[in-house]
Amino acid sequence: MSFVTYSCRTCGAGIDVQPDNLLTICEYCGDIHPAKDIGEVPVHIVPSRSRDEVIAAVNQRMAQDRDMRGVRYEIGSAEGVYVPIYVNHAYVRGRWEGYKTRRQNKTTIKEPRSGAIDQRGDFPVPARKHAHEFGLAQLGRVLFRCQPVPFRTLDWKSIALPVLAVDMDESEADALLSDNLIDLIGEQIRAAHSLDGITRFEADRWIQSRFILLYPLWTVIYTYRGGSYRVAVEGGTPSVLAAMEPVFLSQRIGRFLATIGLTVTAGLIWYGSWWVLFVAAHDSDEMGKLFIGVIVAILAAMTGAWHMAGKMVASVNVEGIADAQMDGLKGQTAKLKALWRRLK
Ligand SMILES: [Zn+2]
Repeated sequence: MSFVTYSCRTCGAGIDVQPDNLLTICEYCGDIHPAKDIGEVPVHIVPSRSRDEVIAAVNQRMAQDRDMRGVRYEIGSAEGVYVPIYVNHAYVRGRWEGYKTRRQNKTTIKEPRSGAIDQRGDFPVPARKHAHEFGLAQLGRVLFRCQPVPFRTLDWKSIALPVLAVDMDESEADALLSDNLIDLIGEQIRAAHSLDGITRFEADRWIQSRFILLYPLWTVIYTYRGGSYRVAVEGGTPSVLAAMEPVFLSQRIGRFLATIGLTVTAGLIWYGSWWVLFVAAHDSDEMGKLFIGVIVAILAAMTGAWHMAGKMVASVNVEGIADAQMDGLKGQTAKLKALWRRLK
């Protein structure tokens, strides 16, 4: 990768700038050097807690975890970065059409449903084209638990971490937001109207304001019996987003027995069904129904066995945060209100 080096206008330190980075931050004094494309977009930050507090959050989570409680592991490393995210305050209006299914007299009926979309919300999208940091997906869900503050109001030295490059400009962020809106709002509509499917989603969106949020994301590596495992921690609270865990011997044995059990079950169903089909059943209609039932039961048992066999060879479990801990979009808007007022 090529760099351009120039002096920071505030502290004079040499800064390496990647040509495609739209927001360079001096790692010494924290001065912001935005590229022309995003010069007007304000920058806000959730300040990171210290390395010790992040590690303490990992230890606390392990102490409460069913599998990891009492396990002796060692913390190897803990590194934090600020991940840049575009937070878009948008108004979305349009219509949706969908359906709900219902059983009546042995047939399935699709009942059409439709409604209006009229909603204001805060929609985050990553400000990086290839954002795939471990824990990033979970971070999107807890983003507004901490109140962001304007970047320049903080003393950078006390919260400094490397800042990942912003390589997505505003028009690219617009396009990404449009793609994500259907997922975000569509999911809410499905849940609110208990729909079985959405057939049409048509909406216009107006982005009313936008800022770049720098959010601290830590990767903590711990070792256990020669293996090393990652834990993703959001550094604002701090709290664990996702953790890799070793697969213990007792779990392997359990999975091994489950695989055998399910395979034997599939065999028994097959064996037993011959007797039922050709000895006990008399009319062909009944036989047809039984046959379908048998095939479904065998497939279910084989799928279970296949799943367990796959888990048996896995050496790492990944546990994310529970859904109950995730904040909904409604809460996010309320929390950011003060910030949006300041931006106007
Ligand atoms: Zn500087």
